[in-house]
Amino acid sequence: MAAGAWLKECARVVAAERERLTELDAAIGDADHGANLDRGFQAIVTELDLGDEAEPGAQLVAAGSLLIRRVGGASGPLYGSALRSMGRALSQGADLSTALEQAVEAVEKLGKAVEGDKTMVDALRPAARAMALAVQEGLDVREALDRAARAAEEGAAATAPMRARKGRASYLGERSEGHQDPGATSAALLIRALAVTW
Ligand code: ADP
Ligand code: MG
Repeated sequence: MAAGAWLKECARVVAAERERLTELDAAIGDADHGANLDRGFQAIVTELDLGDEAEPGAQLVAAGSLLIRRVGGASGPLYGSALRSMGRALSQGADLSTALEQAVEAVEKLGKAVEGDKTMVDALRPAARAMALAVQEGLDVREALDRAARAAEEGAAATAPMRARKGRASYLGERSEGHQDPGATSAALLIRALAVTW
């Protein structure tokens, strides 16, 4: 388990995809999603000890708390709560699939969005579902994570035609249709980062 490696990879891809996330948020939000996440993940890599000696669960809880403190906007508290729940689950001995389930439940509870509302839940919920199913089928954690990342990517792509029912994009009504959701897009990046580093 390498929570530090995952968090560093998240920071790297968020920085690399910052402009794309900003453009997606410019279309149906307020053009700050790339900047929000970049600020948060840069704080994580510069301010936290992400070495391999530290306990992964504690690292994720600390990272989540930092996101909540540093990221303005809806995504900070949502991703922050997700990382905190995931970290707590791992610290209590849960496997990664269970920890991912806890993370997604935290987002659903805080944001009260369900699949189809055109939010990060449209990437996160399919990822947790695919991971659980893969584990049930007896696949190893790498294979299961790859399934989860693919499900998140498909889920993010599937938000494009949807009409937003939660968050800032919902104020646009039908004008939110035809644009991929920025949070679902970043969620797929974070799950793919997990699959390549865990
Ligand atoms: P803000 O909307 O406050 O500017 P961001 O731009 O950082 O915050 O994040 C926007 C993303 O947050 C959206 O694309 C969506 O995926 C996600 N989001 C917004 N509201 C919710 C919610 N209630 N539940 C789940 N995700 C949400
Ligand atoms: Mg925004």
